[in-house]
Amino acid sequence: MSDIDAKKDALIATAKRCFELRLQTNAGGNLSVRLESQDAILIKPSGVGFNECNRDNLQVVHMDGRIEQSPHKPSKDLGFHLGLYRTREDIRAIVHCHSPWATGYASAGLEIPCLTVQSIEKIGRIPLIPMSSRGGPQTEHEISPVFSDSRIVAAVLANHGTIGVGPSLMSAQYLAEIIEETAQVACLRDVLATVHGTHGHALPRFGKVEDALASVT
Ligand SMILES: [Zn+2]
Repeated sequence: MSDIDAKKDALIATAKRCFELRLQTNAGGNLSVRLESQDAILIKPSGVGFNECNRDNLQVVHMDGRIEQSPHKPSKDLGFHLGLYRTREDIRAIVHCHSPWATGYASAGLEIPCLTVQSIEKIGRIPLIPMSSRGGPQTEHEISPVFSDSRIVAAVLANHGTIGVGPSLMSAQYLAEIIEETAQVACLRDVLATVHGTHGHALPRFGKVEDALASVT
């Protein structure tokens, strides 16, 4: 199988898993992977649902921004995908979802604290990236600088969603799952701690705003 067909199949499988896990409804979000056979990426275009991806509707976009002929509109987030690949050679795949628990934190202006052993080991910190200072959603100008720190593999976009990056689509998708799970655990932790009056006990070692800021300055 050619590199491009193998990557298409991997992207279709990842998109389907995100949809089935309800990390992403069938509108919004996007995902991409770097091709090995050419200096280009494969990306889900705008208007194609996660559960509708097939070999014929994925787009090939060259790293210089040229889009190979396609009947579909490019993803609104194409710019930040290209920006991330240009920023870090080790980023080979990106999964961006609007998963509800994590986006709830992002919409409340809260960092998702990494509370669990898994989230500390696999992610460490999940910086919260604010909306664009020029108005509107985050672009490569806000996102790429955060990921210029090679320790950052995941982030949450205020009022928007999540980003997981990795050496493969599967690794980036696993991060999308861990981010969502961590947000759910953190919310339950806060509710239970409030009900039982245990706030102040055993604060998490990572995931505070100060840690995120320290990682990007
Ligand atoms: Zn989005």
